[in-house]
Amino acid sequence: MSPLTVAWSMFAATSFVLGGLHVILWLKDRQRWIYLLSVLMAFAAGATALTDLGLMYADSPETFRTLLKLQGLTIFLILVPMVWFVYGHFGTARLWLAWTITSLSGVSLVINFLSPHSLVFAELVALESATTFWGEQFVTGVGSANPWVIVPHAASFLIVIYVLDASVRAWRRGFRQRAILTGGGIILFTVLAGVHTPLVDAGIVPTPYMVSFWFLAIVVAFSYELVSNAVQVSRYAREIKASEKRWRTLMENVQLPVIGIDGDRRISYVNPFLEKLSGYRRAELIGRSVGSLGGESDSVEVVRALAQVENIGARHQSRWSLVCASGEKRDLLWSTVELQNSDGSHAGLLSVGEDITDRLQATRDLQHTQRELEHMTRTNILGELASGLAHELNQPLAAILSNAQAARRGLASGSTNRVEQLEILEDIIRDDKRAAEVIQRLRALLHRGEIKREIVNVKEVVHEVNQLLHAELVARHVTLNVDLPDDLPDVEAGRVEIQQVLMNLMLNAIRALARVPKENRQIGIHAILVDGELQIAIDDSGPGVESDNLGRLFEAFYTTENNGLGMGLSICRRIVEAYGGRIWAENVVGGGARFSFTLPTSEMHSLKRHG
Ligand code: ADP
Repeated sequence: MSPLTVAWSMFAATSFVLGGLHVILWLKDRQRWIYLLSVLMAFAAGATALTDLGLMYADSPETFRTLLKLQGLTIFLILVPMVWFVYGHFGTARLWLAWTITSLSGVSLVINFLSPHSLVFAELVALESATTFWGEQFVTGVGSANPWVIVPHAASFLIVIYVLDASVRAWRRGFRQRAILTGGGIILFTVLAGVHTPLVDAGIVPTPYMVSFWFLAIVVAFSYELVSNAVQVSRYAREIKASEKRWRTLMENVQLPVIGIDGDRRISYVNPFLEKLSGYRRAELIGRSVGSLGGESDSVEVVRALAQVENIGARHQSRWSLVCASGEKRDLLWSTVELQNSDGSHAGLLSVGEDITDRLQATRDLQHTQRELEHMTRTNILGELASGLAHELNQPLAAILSNAQAARRGLASGSTNRVEQLEILEDIIRDDKRAAEVIQRLRALLHRGEIKREIVNVKEVVHEVNQLLHAELVARHVTLNVDLPDDLPDVEAGRVEIQQVLMNLMLNAIRALARVPKENRQIGIHAILVDGELQIAIDDSGPGVESDNLGRLFEAFYTTENNGLGMGLSICRRIVEAYGGRIWAENVVGGGARFSFTLPTSEMHSLKRHG
């Protein structure tokens, strides 16, 4: 068999095989109409190769003409799908150019079939035998050129412009392989075909038409691109599967309850942790309305929370409880996200919960402790003072009473003389002095009584007090700003006592803030080091203190509150002074009160001890 026949048959066969391959790709993914275009191109390229072969061995001008016209059709079936393939595959081509080229190609096809001697020849007069350089014979047509051939040439020229433009834009968007391989391939081989064919038509280059070869090259470039795309897609699919598996493993093992919710608000997925927590099996939960999980009281909240996620499309946190199979109710904080399909449509919701039952209980306990501590702080000292006084004064008062009664009896009966009466009065005076001493001593005890000293980290104490007051601050909409440097030195004082001072000042500030609007309730805690002393300030954005009263705040029993005791600040002063510090109040420029107190740092203490 001759090399020409072998080569062109191979071109045809390869094109058909590639066409078949593209059919398979299309069958696998029918949504991609682009595969159909490449099928058409590949088969048309195969048909062009066969017409090329026929033209080489045509035995009469009539056969040659018919084959030329047929080839006009096969070329049309390559070029037009190719233009739309580029349009669909690149996404960067210009639509108007695509339509212009399609129209020009359509016009060429019509001219081709209307012209008696095809689009190439105005008149085909004869066939001429030619020889390849290795000596093989084939025929070419001899005749005058058809002036209308300008139309397909214009179409080819526009194709080059069109593909060049689309490739440059694809390159800029980062699709480099597509731009180089497919775009570059089309341009190169269209230019080669556009140069070679007219030279053959004009009899300048003595070779057979090689249109099918150029187009086969383009089809190969397309195939490479499509197959590598398909391979990439399958790799992505594998990766997605692996990542899906990772997600599933995570959801199945995470120690948090997870619920999938479908479009009808029914449970579509629950993880094992939720089964364990609720005591229900998966099968009992799937398909149930998610609103029913929280019992009647919470179902409205569930529906409202989910609607919010769907409407706003945002991540949402809501609190609703879970009624377990045992009837126990657990409080949960749910974070819900909306899931979407690949086209962006709603695919349900995913809620991940956090069981905060124990945390809420702990907060309630803390609040209780805090109330107790507050109560103790405010009543302890008074109680102690009162019972101490009663106890100590009982004895001298009783002695005074009995002496006075004896004196009265003596005076009434005249049984006591003047000396005895003076003695009784002396006793009364002595007992009275003793009573006064008791009061003095008690006071002194209160001022300088046994005090406990330990190394106290003020930052920690502030933190503890804030913990205790957290719920109170939240309930009263107070924002707390704590500004304590990390390197605060320790102080030497009683931890519980300092806690009491802070607690008192904070409670006073919170109470003062009740008189200002919610959005303007702020408390700041600051600490600085001044001359070796730690100075702690608590300021609030409340109404402040009337300046006339500033000096009286720390007096015992001074209060402006209806049910106040007026002991809080005096106790604070007693504690602070017992540890060698000072406490004072002032009004802050811009509104609010500031209560500051100092405490010597532990270094100061040791200096004093050693120095
Ligand atoms: P009580 O709290 O029982 O009134 P305190 O000794 O703690 O006793 O407070 C005395 C008074 O000081 C309060 O009645 C109040 O008038 C005033 N006071 C205390 N803290 C503040 C504050 N942060 N802002 C305004 N006034 C305050």
